Amino acid sequence: MLAVIVAGDNADSEIYIRNKIKACAEVGIESRVLRFPADVSQDALLRAIRNVNDDPGIDGLLVQSPLPKHVDERAMFNAIDPEKDVDGLHPQNAGALMTGTDGLFACTPKGCIELLKRAGVPLAGSNAVVLGRSNIVGKPMAILLLQEHCTVTVCHSKTRDLSAVTRGADILIAAIRQPRFVTGDMIKPGAAVIDVGINRMPDGKAAGDVDFESVFPVAGWITKVPGGVGPMTIAMLLQNTLEAAENAR
Ligand code: NDP
Repeated sequence: MLAVIVAGDNADSEIYIRNKIKACAEVGIESRVLRFPADVSQDALLRAIRNVNDDPGIDGLLVQSPLPKHVDERAMFNAIDPEKDVDGLHPQNAGALMTGTDGLFACTPKGCIELLKRAGVPLAGSNAVVLGRSNIVGKPMAILLLQEHCTVTVCHSKTRDLSAVTRGADILIAAIRQPRFVTGDMIKPGAAVIDVGINRMPDGKAAGDVDFESVFPVAGWITKVPGGVGPMTIAMLLQNTLEAAENAR
């Protein structure tokens, strides 16, 4: 069983949770959503996490981000039992990823690797550029690419001459929360472009971090938003939940 802890009302979070619950049902994984109001105390959330940790009937737990501003997200992630940490955010799992040992690893980067492999994109020796350095996407993405023998560059908001870096990328992963930021002139012809971004536009539609129209004619492979990485993230969540359940037994 997968448990999801959610606090406050965030329209995007609701969509993500609904998709995750639906996917669980489709493959026969039970799920439970534990909802808390936006003014929930940090202690109450910590108690809820510990209750899930102690419940042998629950195999996986994810704490849906973003949490209300007064809650220390890192303290919440640190409180999750690493064996149930299906988002791979506990330091024990992040450390396992870093050292190449067994653990539960972040779903989105895992999904990106699966996409690249299944599309037949050459990984070993390729120049991979990751835009973004968050704990949930950018950093684990860079480590997974390194494990696949890519030569990895990580860029962020202080990177100088970003286009010069991206134009050297055989594989470009965009996870910067900037709608349609990556344009065709920033792409090496034939590159594999993975768009992780989900940005809510004023018209309510979702836009990626990649300008699909201008990048599509240049790239060799490209993912779309919506589609592409989002469904793969959910698939990896199911895989992590199954893995946690198997490990527990
Ligand atoms: P964060 O906001 O935590 O991190 C964004 C990163 O992008 C930071 O490292 C930041 O740099 C960097 N950045 C911001 N602006 C620029 C810029 N102009 N040039 C270069 N780097 C920049 O985002 P997340 O990692 O959580 O998410 C990234 C995107 O992926 C979001 O759009 C999110 O919605 C989406 N997402 C999609 C998922 C899916 O399932 N498809 C799952 C998770 C996230 P700095 O560190 O210097 O501030």
